[in-house]
Amino acid sequence: MAEWLWDHGGEGFAQVYRTDEVLFDAASPYQRVRVVRTPMFGRMLVLDDAVQTSEADEFCYHELLAHLPLVTHPAPKRVLIVGGGDGGLLEEALKHPVERAVMVEIDRMVVDATLRWIPQIPGEAFEDPRTELRIEDGFAYVRGCAERFDVALVDSTDPQGPSVPLFGAAFYGDLHRLLGEDGVLAVQSGSPLYQQDLVAEVRRNLRQHFPVVRTYLACVPSYPGVLWTFTLASKRHDPKALDPQQVDRRVAGLGLRYYTGLQHVASLNPPPFLRDVLEA
Ligand code: SAM
Repeated sequence: MAEWLWDHGGEGFAQVYRTDEVLFDAASPYQRVRVVRTPMFGRMLVLDDAVQTSEADEFCYHELLAHLPLVTHPAPKRVLIVGGGDGGLLEEALKHPVERAVMVEIDRMVVDATLRWIPQIPGEAFEDPRTELRIEDGFAYVRGCAERFDVALVDSTDPQGPSVPLFGAAFYGDLHRLLGEDGVLAVQSGSPLYQQDLVAEVRRNLRQHFPVVRTYLACVPSYPGVLWTFTLASKRHDPKALDPQQVDRRVAGLGLRYYTGLQHVASLNPPPFLRDVLEA
């Protein structure tokens, strides 16, 4: 029988989804992991009560979190992903001519549930010879890591439990140490509508370590409120310096459905009603 799933965004606000079937529902040591089937978004990954990604619109989120920072770096070869257990971000990153991608996800159940029930999201990314999947805490991994990376991407759950340190200044300082001189970092930074404090905190914490900090927008229809932010931090390269033609040349032939040169510019130039939130 159909049920309704409520994803509570902000105070007094939720987005509601009809779920026609529960394909997987189990508790890991970190969270409740569910895969449900919905008429609007197809199969959806839900952690605790928060929608993480869906078959229908995963590309909106993953393309923006992967390609905008990868294109900002002149020639990324080594990529680090923290979180991102569904593998959708890894799949996007591997579309570039990178040589190595290390993904550090704390919860094996998220990887296994996605591979079993929504395998089209990671595709072949976990079998790619360039991929190293590590099941461990991303904060501890980054703190102890001696390897250097060109681009780091943080695809975490909203700050709760083990993901809280992934939004802190200490973590961003550790990531700065792992990145080379051209290094670029991008993180998911929450809703610009009901998580404005989080957006501001991420920006403040990144500014402690990086000279270039840019918050950018994407539309992710399965997330409450649809609009979502990511924040890029970089040691020297500013994504705003790229023109649409340069971006289009870098992503030509990748078969993308959201990210283009014009979307690059649009994402980095919020409408006036959000400018104060995103650029404060
Ligand atoms: N796109 C999603 C969103 O914005 O809601 C995030 C998706 S991804 C599935 C988030 C992942 O971060 C989860 O699988 C979770 O287990 C992982 N995670 C949370 N804290 C972590 C940590 N400290 N180290 C590594 N992974 C972590």
